[in-house]
Amino acid sequence: MRAIVTGGAGFLGGHLCRELVGRGLEVVAVDDLSTGRVANLAAVEGAPGFRFLEHDVSEPFEVDGPVDAVLHFASPASPPDYLARPIETLRVGSTGTQHTLELARRNGARYLLASTSEVYGDPLVHPQAETYWGNVNPVGPRSVYDEAKRFAEAMATAYRRTHGVDVKIARIFNTYGPGLRPADGRAVPNFIAQALAGEPLTIYGDGSQTRSFCFVDDEVQGLLGLLLSDWSGGPMNIGNPEEHTILELARLVIALTGSSSDIAFRPLPVDDPVRRCPDIALARRELGWKPTVTLTEGLRRTISWFCDQVGNESHR
Ligand code: NAD
Ligand code: UDP
Repeated sequence: MRAIVTGGAGFLGGHLCRELVGRGLEVVAVDDLSTGRVANLAAVEGAPGFRFLEHDVSEPFEVDGPVDAVLHFASPASPPDYLARPIETLRVGSTGTQHTLELARRNGARYLLASTSEVYGDPLVHPQAETYWGNVNPVGPRSVYDEAKRFAEAMATAYRRTHGVDVKIARIFNTYGPGLRPADGRAVPNFIAQALAGEPLTIYGDGSQTRSFCFVDDEVQGLLGLLLSDWSGGPMNIGNPEEHTILELARLVIALTGSSSDIAFRPLPVDDPVRRCPDIALARRELGWKPTVTLTEGLRRTISWFCDQVGNESHR
């Protein structure tokens, strides 16, 4: 089996490539290196059948040889990254998604779309089940990401209905772990990098907003479970249903790093969701999947990886 992973040099893409290669698949990682790094592919470089193709998937592309699965993960994902690249984010979610769906259609390949909990916007229903349509500001700063992903879901669904492409849509909730850029801008890498440097942890707003953090190994098992399943229904939430406030997360990182850092409160970004927690009943029932790594254990493993990177500028 041969899989194409767009965004393969990113945080999730790198973990997916490693797991797919480990399961004996041939893998082509396609990435424009806008937010990713080839270092994320170090574990699979030189593996039989592995190839890296540097390319912007918003531009047309073809892959030689057989294609059995397409995993479309290319997109800026951290809020500072997509806010700095608004047009590119909309393009990779729209035109880029269509290019990857065409690749799957031409090859009769199964297709996995990396969608996001952001399709629920600032949700008015809690926890969020797949049946909830969301509460998204279509013209706010975050809309470049949220609406791109909502469009991508619509496009992927149209390819299933029109061309019979075997499409799976994963709504990924906040995922963290080794491989995140310390300067990526998301809460977990920011807090760990700040705590290790003895700097104040920057909390946006009062820290009472919630997120549900999934360790990357769990997320990858859920994503590949979905890809390889017979599920032909709609989108599926893949995330950890344990909900924490951002203040709790910051305090836990301080405790686990043994840091003497303070907390510094900063303004809350526009449209920052107040509560977020997945209902994963569908993934439990259809895939028999649920997360296994606690937040404390996952943070320990992530902190340990960050400590190994300290002083290595190529990881920034
Ligand atoms: P990341 O920024 O580490 O990885 C994204 C990768 O896509 C990078 O390697 C980047 O260079 C590449 N890329 C961006 N635009 C591209 C383009 N036009 N052509 C080719 N490559 C391009 O982010 P991540 O956390 O690994 O996220 C991966 C995917 O998962 C994204 O689609 C994101 O929306 C989705 N997702 C992630 C999370 C999470 O918590 N990590 C949550 C929800 C959804
Ligand atoms: N956040 C924070 N300090 C930071 C980075 C993020 O308080 O240094 C907050 C952010 O405002 C949001 C939450 O933490 O409420 C999660 O942010 P992240 O960027 O990790 O993910 P997303 O907003 O996409 O869920």
